[in-house]
Amino acid sequence: MRIVVKVGTSTLAHAAGLLNIRRVEGLVKVLSDLKNEGHQLVLVSSGAIGMGVGKLNLPGRPADMPTKQAAAAVGQCELMYTYDKLFGAYNHTVAQLLLTAEDVNFPRRRQNFENTINRLLELNALPIVNENDAVATDEVGMSTTIGENDTLSAIVSECVGADLLILLSDIDGLYTADPRKDEHAALIPEVREITPELKALAGEPGSALGTGGMATKLKAAEIAMACGCDMVIANGQRPEQLYDIAAGRHTGTRFVGRREGQ
Ligand code: GLU
Repeated sequence: MRIVVKVGTSTLAHAAGLLNIRRVEGLVKVLSDLKNEGHQLVLVSSGAIGMGVGKLNLPGRPADMPTKQAAAAVGQCELMYTYDKLFGAYNHTVAQLLLTAEDVNFPRRRQNFENTINRLLELNALPIVNENDAVATDEVGMSTTIGENDTLSAIVSECVGADLLILLSDIDGLYTADPRKDEHAALIPEVREITPELKALAGEPGSALGTGGMATKLKAAEIAMACGCDMVIANGQRPEQLYDIAAGRHTGTRFVGRREGQ
């Protein structure tokens, strides 16, 4: 299978931005093993800004654009150095791809990206994708950012014709209510259609239920499902779950991609 795995900053780093070594080592080990099983993998990894904050000893996430972009430039290096070293120990070759919105919104540039990433997969390399946070800015009337990696990973899944997209989050999946606030909240194991009711459940980003970023995850699910790709939301604290997910066993929430004739 072609599998795209998206991993967020909360999975990769401790609160102050320093690397969560145990977590990242566990993740790289399982991903390397899945590659050895014969799957083709793409990793969409956040963490550039977070790790830059840690490396530069900044007091917190910067509010101004130049410092944020400087942190991203430092953190992206640290991120790739870590992946290169850890995947290298299992004999896997990583490749860095940094994108802005323009790279996927303009057909010719998108084709160029598709050619590169697909060639990397044919060459058995492991593409690691992030937004190019050091240069992407959100200016009024000229948005050059995608903004978050849930959507980016769904776009990447579309570009490589992935069979499966896995979003590793700080929550086990999509719930009927916020599990941090409601003890009766139940995990929804499978979703076949993104209904307005489901969207209302996820809430807007920043609202009570949207804190886990569920709204962007549903947007990603819509993109993935439309191109026949399954998407699973699972907890990044337990990377071994990736074995079950790749084998089609129920873990987290699975959004079933639309197949021919459906
Ligand atoms: N591209 C951002 C970073 O690497 C993260 C975006 C996201 O977390 O969705 O820091």
